[in-house]
Amino acid sequence: MKLHWKIIIGMVLGVVFGLIMSQTSFGSDLIKDWVKPFGTIFINLLKLIAMPLILASLVKGISDLKDISKLSTIGTRTLGIYICTTVTAVVIGLILVNVVEPGSTITEETRIDLVQEYEQGVIEKQQQAQQQAESGPLQPLVDIVPANIFDAATNNRNMLQVIFFAIFFGIGIILVDPKLAKPVKDFFDGLNSIILKLIDLIMESAPYGVFALLATLVVESPSLDLFIALGMYSVTLIIGLILMIVVYNIIVKLITNTNPSTFMKGISAAQLLGFSTSSSAATLPVTMDCAEKNLGVDKEISSFVLPIGATVNMDGTSVYQAVAAVFIAQAFGLDLSLGAQLGIIVTATLASIGAAAVPSAGIVMLVIVLGQAGIPEAGLALIIAVDRPLDMCRTIVNVTGDAAVSMIVAKSVGKLKDPKDVNKN
Ligand code: ASP
Repeated sequence: MKLHWKIIIGMVLGVVFGLIMSQTSFGSDLIKDWVKPFGTIFINLLKLIAMPLILASLVKGISDLKDISKLSTIGTRTLGIYICTTVTAVVIGLILVNVVEPGSTITEETRIDLVQEYEQGVIEKQQQAQQQAESGPLQPLVDIVPANIFDAATNNRNMLQVIFFAIFFGIGIILVDPKLAKPVKDFFDGLNSIILKLIDLIMESAPYGVFALLATLVVESPSLDLFIALGMYSVTLIIGLILMIVVYNIIVKLITNTNPSTFMKGISAAQLLGFSTSSSAATLPVTMDCAEKNLGVDKEISSFVLPIGATVNMDGTSVYQAVAAVFIAQAFGLDLSLGAQLGIIVTATLASIGAAAVPSAGIVMLVIVLGQAGIPEAGLALIIAVDRPLDMCRTIVNVTGDAAVSMIVAKSVGKLKDPKDVNKN
């Protein structure tokens, strides 16, 4: 049976099991004590492999390019397309939220209730965001360059710093005498193959991992009433996310002539894992596997475009920031000027680039978007309750976007194979 089917079965069984067990406190405790740890182990395994994977695959990917001009062509294209898809995502979010106006459906009563109930969570997110916002305008640039690579590699939030080091190191390999570079290059080639093997092994356990994750989520999730109160907001956001998937399918079809069914089927295992883990970084190994084996993206491109995409290209998060910011403004009865909405395009784009590829990163960065647009940050309390399921949905879009861009970049440099041919080999 194909992996994505096994994962779907794991998810469904996890939800059903969670629903049954959540009926009694004995069942809930049983899941928290005996099932949740397996979900945590699964996520830890994925996170464990993410940093070595980025290092090995980027160094290998870049040193395989053999010349710097090729790297700069691919690099500029990748970043250019990433920025275009991100801005498209923010604009889609803004248009939708202005048309649907989900914020006006929230009653005064619900608003006060939610703000009171989730005050504590808001304070935590505000503190995290404050640390990011207090720095100067060029701080994000400074943050990309680590002062110590071993220090940087000890925290998964520092992916961008490790990416910087890996690219820099890869460039060094290209520039020295090939004879001298060979042993180092061979080492990274071998390391890369070993890591890919480890990922295969970890993925064997994916169906059980997602079973544990979803069963735990059901047991720990807030009441259904909240979902209904925030229904219009969630629906607006989900429509925005679906539209982004449609946009990817259209560009992929137009540029690479790949059918939507081939594209969606090819990336489905990564989407399901993105949904279950809420983390593009944790999903990265599988996104790379899907892009190479199912979509025909050459390793040379996927190993460069995808690790960068997982950290900087988050279109689902961008749609979310636009919808959430304006929704909160609407719920508080604020009328946002065109200028303020244009400002949201800029801050939401930057915030999605700056957001770490981990669960709930989007809502932390949202605090900054709200601050810039003059929307009360206490409004976070309105949406915090439903943030986890929506985080799961936006992560699907984040990984799908990365895969779509990897196909487009691969096509533009003649490195996209026909998916049928890849499967035959
Ligand atoms: N969880 C998302 C991701 O890892 C980021 C977010 O919170 O929007 O892609």
